[in-house]
Order: sequence, then structure tokens, then C-alpha cells
Amino acid sequence: MISLQHLNKSFGSLQVLHDINLNVPEGQVTALIGPSGSGKSTLLRCVNLLELPQDGTLQLAEQRLDFQPKRPPAQSAILALRRRTGMVFQNFQLFPHLNALDNVVEGLRTVHRWARSKAEQHGLALLDKVGLAHKAKAWPHELSGGQQQRVAIARALASSPQVLLCDEPTSALDPELAGEVVEVLQTLAAEGTTMLIATHDLRLAAHIAHQVVFMEAGRIVEHGAAQALFMQPQQARTRGYVSTLF
Ligand code: ADP
Ligand code: MG
Repeated sequence: MISLQHLNKSFGSLQVLHDINLNVPEGQVTALIGPSGSGKSTLLRCVNLLELPQDGTLQLAEQRLDFQPKRPPAQSAILALRRRTGMVFQNFQLFPHLNALDNVVEGLRTVHRWARSKAEQHGLALLDKVGLAHKAKAWPHELSGGQQQRVAIARALASSPQVLLCDEPTSALDPELAGEVVEVLQTLAAEGTTMLIATHDLRLAAHIAHQVVFMEAGRIVEHGAAQALFMQPQQARTRGYVSTLF
């Protein structure tokens, strides 16, 4: 579904992604793990072009972009690619002045120009999917962190993205609230939603991912099936990192 080839990303003189090559298979969950500062968030943000790589290639489904220094892709191509993705952030980032349902349908109304009744019907179905149809009219501040994150997931799914990108989706939550978010992600995984999840929570990765990618200092150190990467890591550095799980 997603293919990255020879992707490099720098902020000024600081190179934070080095020659990233990665395939995210359709219908599977891929977890990006690694210590803080290893480049997980930046990699996710390059996939939906919140950050522009300096060079390399990004292919998402049938759309392909080749990056070249000083020649950014056309804005229309960036927007078209971004619309193929849905993004979930660590801190939910709901619109505080909109209720749960309006948070979910805002993009459908403004970007996709759906009529209100059609958008709300779709939005309610998505809130139902994350177990929050009864909170449609609640304001974000009236919801727990876990509920806010479930609304954020419903919002990310609203425009039927081809891939769901999640950046530390449970890291701001207490364990019990994280659990309800993990349950929702597991349901989506079971339905065959393609997901790329950055997390330093190895339990979440072990729980939910088919593929695991271990990053360190902006490089992919190891990539493999979740079971193999956790149980029989090939690289010493991966072994050191995942041993903290057991
Ligand atoms: P992770 O998500 O794995 O913790 P990040 O992708 O957030 O890692 O960060 C990788 C590196 O890039 C870090 O050294 C971080 O300080 C740096 N970085 C991230 N975003 C920016 C930015 N907008 N400007 C400058 N440096 C950044
Ligand atoms: Mg991060």
C-alpha cells in the first residue's frame, strides 16, 4: 500500500531520516518502534507530507511522488496524497469548539462538500464503530482522554483513507484508557485496515502489529514479522531494545 524508497529528511543541517526503505502491506498493521528521537514521528509525517522529504520516492496506492531538493511537488499532488491518509495524533487534537459528531464530519463538510444529513449519518456510523454514538453531542472537554482519542480515530476514518497513520496513539493515556483505544485499533486491524503506527509502547506493537520496524537514529535497523522481530531479533541493537519488553 505504501512504499518508501531511499527517503532522506533533514531539518536544516540535521539529517533525521537516512535512506529509508519501507513497504507497508495492504490490510496489515505495521508498527514503527524505537527510542525517543529516532525519527518515528518524522517518518509518519513524511508519509502524509506534513513534512517534505529532501529526496527519495513515496508511493501510496497508485500515486507516486519523487522528491528532489529545491523542487517540491505541486500542492495539488500533496493534497491528493494527503487525502489518501488519515492521521491520529498523540494528543487527540480535536477541535475544542465542535462536538464529537461535528469533529468527525468537519472534513467531509468543508473539504469533500458533503451535505449535512449525509455527513452526519456517516459520522454517527463511525462514532458507533468506536463505541461512542451516545456521545455524538458531547464536547471534547466532557470526554475522557480515551474517548477523545476514539473520536479522533473516527474523524481520521471519515474520508475512507487508504491508510491510517497513528503517532503514539496511546501515549497520553493511563493504562485503562489506553486499553479502550487499543481495542478500537484491534477491531480496525481485524477488519483489514492498513495502519502504520509509531509507538514506543512495545506492548501495543506486540499486541497489534503484523510487521514491526525498529528505528534508531533515523535509520531502519531491522524490519520483520512481529513475532520474529520480538522473539528472534537479528541485530544486537534490536535485541537490546526489545528485551525491555520481557
Ligand atoms: P520520535 O518520534 O522517534 O521521537 P522525531 O521524529 O520526533 O522522533 O524526531 C527525530 C529527530 O528530529 C529528533 O532529533 C528531533 O529533535 C528532530 N526534529 C523533529 N522535528 C523537528 C523539527 N520540526 N525541526 C527540527 N528538528 C526536528
Ligand atoms: Mg514521536
